[in-house]
Amino acid sequence: QTKLQSKVEDPYPDWKPGAPVPYAALCTTFSLIELTSKRLIITEHCSLFLRQVLRLTPDDFLPTVLLMINKLAPDYAGIELGIGESLIMKAIGESTGRSLQVIKADQKEIGDLGLVAIKSRSTQPTMFKPKPLTVRGVHKGLMDIATVAGNGAQGRKVDGIKKLLSAADSQSTGKVDIHKDKGGPSEAKFIVRFLEGKLRLGLAERTVLVSIAHAMICHEADQKGAVASTKEIEEAEAMLKTVYSELPSWDVIVPAMVNNGIMRLKETCKLRPGVPLKPMLAKPTKAITEVLDRFENQTFTCEYKYDGERAQIHYVSKDHSEEYIDALPGATKEAAKGVASIFSRNSEDLSKKYPDILAKLHTWIKDGTKSFVLDCETVAWDVTEKKVLPFQQLMTRKKKDVKVEDVKVKVCVFAFDLLFLNGEAVVEKSLRERRELLHEAFQPVEGEFAFATHMNGQELEEIQIFLDESVKASCEGLMVKMLDGSESGYEPSKRSRNWLKIKKDYLSGIGDSLDLVVLGAYYGRGKRTSVYGAFLLACYNPATESYETVCNIGTGFSEQVLEELHKQLSEIVIERPKPFYSHSSGNQHQPDVWLEPRYVWEVKTADLTLSPRYKAGIKDGADPAGDKGISLRFPRFIKVRDDKKPDEATSSRQVVEMYKKQEAVTKNKGPSVDDDF
Ligand code: ATP
Repeated sequence: QTKLQSKVEDPYPDWKPGAPVPYAALCTTFSLIELTSKRLIITEHCSLFLRQVLRLTPDDFLPTVLLMINKLAPDYAGIELGIGESLIMKAIGESTGRSLQVIKADQKEIGDLGLVAIKSRSTQPTMFKPKPLTVRGVHKGLMDIATVAGNGAQGRKVDGIKKLLSAADSQSTGKVDIHKDKGGPSEAKFIVRFLEGKLRLGLAERTVLVSIAHAMICHEADQKGAVASTKEIEEAEAMLKTVYSELPSWDVIVPAMVNNGIMRLKETCKLRPGVPLKPMLAKPTKAITEVLDRFENQTFTCEYKYDGERAQIHYVSKDHSEEYIDALPGATKEAAKGVASIFSRNSEDLSKKYPDILAKLHTWIKDGTKSFVLDCETVAWDVTEKKVLPFQQLMTRKKKDVKVEDVKVKVCVFAFDLLFLNGEAVVEKSLRERRELLHEAFQPVEGEFAFATHMNGQELEEIQIFLDESVKASCEGLMVKMLDGSESGYEPSKRSRNWLKIKKDYLSGIGDSLDLVVLGAYYGRGKRTSVYGAFLLACYNPATESYETVCNIGTGFSEQVLEELHKQLSEIVIERPKPFYSHSSGNQHQPDVWLEPRYVWEVKTADLTLSPRYKAGIKDGADPAGDKGISLRFPRFIKVRDDKKPDEATSSRQVVEMYKKQEAVTKNKGPSVDDDF
């Protein structure tokens, strides 16, 4: 039996049943988690705490979960804190009566704003004791900060932070030693980290999900005076994973789970229009032969890989809209016959970017199509030549508040999958069946809506020809997908082996481009002295919540792009690298300025190599000796990826996979990567 399965003593005597969860209690759990890197122990701390919340204050379960995953609301609600290091420093200074200069100096020395907040606090005599913080109060305070808008928003954000920081740690006695136990259970530290977007506890959303399942099932057993068995715990975990993948919204799941029990979740929490799913993703390949090896003896299908922006379109016809209207946040009446929303790859609401799509949507729908969730790519369209335009054209479209009459770059929607139709999720059906349903439910309209071009041939030669055709049609290459059987179901949020991508460009390279986060910049030389001329890039390690440097890049930028980047990046310069940057400490390897981790760039490379200067993949076994990271040789800038957040950048593990695959090919001298051509 684990600790979780047995009864536990109440560790927080001040926390009475029904009373708001003390924020200090959550911070104590955070600080216990912070002291270990063992997944099982982290899960245990997390679920023990959640079980307490369920027992004492189930009303606070949702804000507790949200504060644990460093979110205020589901992604599609579009609520962002929008706070950089300088605002946080200002608020720390003003709430503790220290000058900004002193705070900056501390930050330079300590390098961790959370610890700077503790240090600032402990020098401040307490005149009166503010009311202790509660989990729901902190969540509300942060929500207020995120949602202030209009004139003087920045100032009011600072005021909001000050309010939280002034009340933080009001109950703690004595000074906190910032060098001991990583600063301990300080409330100020965790508020600051939340504001920075990184709690740095190794508490990924997956871990919290598992902990929620454990806590729920054990709590339900507690109530019956029983003990949850290991099998029941496993079933609860599997249930929550499935439900969350189809309906990734704690706002919807938590109340249903707390009211009806975890094992009944599937009855009410199903994929539904209005709640975007995390899209299914593909694995890169370098050769058609690799695709044939993977799908040996199984039928697959090839589709053009369009180079535009991923879009998930949710629609409910007017006669069905009542039950969904609240759920469709960007719902617009412009879809004359119903309500619709468009979501991006990372679940942001794109409805204000594509009013032209929403206005025409109803003309693509056949009679009898009442509701759907469609997976597709929006691509810039040349109206005169009637063909696909390069991705760069799409990027010139405004992102918000677009008016249909002002649209200059027309888009065509290429649909490749259907996830929900007429009140029912279809993700578990085979791709062949989903495709049939898709074709039955919609009709193409030239230049506005089309089905992704596909080909079901299984022979190498046919695929080669199809790949060439796709490139001629201005596509990036092919997507090759499992067609039949349960493996061909739609797997939300997964980078799956059942979807492979072949990009023409990369057939002789490493198989794919990388999406990397800009951490630093170097001033240009010669002609480029007034702008940044080179940049330090990193991949993301979700296990350690850190950015690992992977290369410097100075190629692929036009003068105009460099000027724009200089303007954009100057605004996010920070005093020194964040504590969650993993970079070389050598003096000669420091960029001229460090930056907040905000922008993701797509980068191509000739190949990958080991280098003592970079840190990518060291923790994921890049180098058997353990001191060299992976780096990119001859990296080249392709484009800014607005549709990816920094923690959606290429992961360290992916970089290691790419490196190992490349190594295996060179070593084995096996089929050369471009044998097909
Ligand atoms: P990429 O840089 O390749 O777009 P990614 O990480 O955004 O990388 P991947 O899973 O690697 O996503 O590639 C699949 C992407 O290709 C989808 O997100 C989608 O935007 C696009 N795409 C274009 N055509 C298709 C298609 N027929 N089927 C699936 N995805 C397609």
